[in-house]
Amino acid sequence: LALVVEPIQDLGKAYNEYKQGEPALERIFDLMRFNPEVTDKPSATHLQHVNGDIKFHDVTFRYVDSMPPVVDGVNLHIRPGESIAFVGPSGGGKSTLAKLLLRLYHPQSGYMLLDNHDVQDIQLQCLRTHIAFVSQDAMLFSGTIAENIAYRDPLGDINMARVEYAAKIAHAEEFIKMLPEGYDSNVGQRGSSLSGGQKQRSELLLKEALRNLMTNHTVTVLIIAHQQEMVLMADRIVSLEGGKLQEITKLDFLSQNGHLQKITSPN
Ligand code: ADP
Ligand code: MG
Repeated sequence: LALVVEPIQDLGKAYNEYKQGEPALERIFDLMRFNPEVTDKPSATHLQHVNGDIKFHDVTFRYVDSMPPVVDGVNLHIRPGESIAFVGPSGGGKSTLAKLLLRLYHPQSGYMLLDNHDVQDIQLQCLRTHIAFVSQDAMLFSGTIAENIAYRDPLGDINMARVEYAAKIAHAEEFIKMLPEGYDSNVGQRGSSLSGGQKQRSELLLKEALRNLMTNHTVTVLIIAHQQEMVLMADRIVSLEGGKLQEITKLDFLSQNGHLQKITSPN
């Protein structure tokens, strides 16, 4: 199993954007339903088991032909169970890269492999079952714990078995079961059944769930991370800027973010 996540960095901000009619959610679902490129070949493969070995090979992609590439010659190998954080400025190409992997779009050149199968040759349903994708865009800020745990299938379904599996690996199960409505507890603003304190704990829980998934190394995790803490949880960090990918060390990352003293201080 592989997991692509983009946790919400600021619930309040996200909710405001949502209220202002941010159409991202609809856009994504429309894309998946109607993008004619997103169909299976008659010979498409179904993978029983996925180790989560992911390769990007010279991937280049433009949304608009006349514009410069948004993903520009990206090469990257992520090994099974590895976690990798994607950082970089807004518009750098992080979300697009994740969408390419999930075949929301086709690259104009290059290819991506999942366990050495070209993703174009894998049944779409199978691909998206084995690579869970949670984007900030698709997050339901007013949703339930289950929805927020990061297992919204791009086709719109919540796979409860996977939610529970993730919660289990993350040792979050007990906490969730203590909530009055369990996985169906609402975390959002509208009709919220969680108190401020419970909400904070839920956010902590989601963070812990991710941390455990990443340290457990049974799931390949691609995380589009906005918080330094989340970035540092990952095994490796890559930065995307102008569609170009560069691997950086944690030290580079920290010094670029001006927090070098944190790790060089005696404590
Ligand atoms: P990031 O996730 O790093 O912020 P994105 O992958 O969302 O970056 O965007 C990369 C670039 O592609 C940006 O310049 C953005 O404006 C552009 N872009 C994103 N989605 C679309 C789209 N559907 N059509 C055209 N351009 C897009
Ligand atoms: Mg993005």
